[in-house]
Amino acid sequence: MAEILVSACLAGEKCKYSGGHNLVPAIAELVRRGKAVPVCPEALGGLTIPRPPAEIRGGDGYDVLAGRARVLDKEGRDVTAAFLRGATATLAKAREIAAELVVLKEKSPSCGSKLIYDGTFTGTARPGPGVTAALLQQHGFKVISEGEIYQVFLR
Ligand code: SF4
Repeated sequence: MAEILVSACLAGEKCKYSGGHNLVPAIAELVRRGKAVPVCPEALGGLTIPRPPAEIRGGDGYDVLAGRARVLDKEGRDVTAAFLRGATATLAKAREIAAELVVLKEKSPSCGSKLIYDGTFTGTARPGPGVTAALLQQHGFKVISEGEIYQVFLR
């Protein structure tokens, strides 16, 4: 049974807002060997591929979960509900596979574990997790970014 959950775009799936991917070959190899399961929270939440980019306005993923901040796309549409649906579905998947580790794409408003963009669509990063990363962390899952995958190989 796989025990690592990974952002699908890191495994090469073309699920980014732009229709592209963020392939990290080592992560794709983990999926190929059945050691990791790919998941895209935004696609699970019902958002289309491609889609306008979105950022959290007024806080981080914890603030969205608490109802203190919203997720808006670049065209001004409130996509908070889709992000929450995707986070809940991803949590269910993490529980299903009893994930010991979750590797998520940094700076994504869903998947960022330590950094997200600040809601101004200017490419400015700020500390804090995205919505899915925050929910998984709240439920005790260990979430790291693709830049920290050396931890996978030290296990
Ligand atoms: Fe990748 Fe996560 Fe964005 Fe999906 S939601 S494209 S998995 S960073």
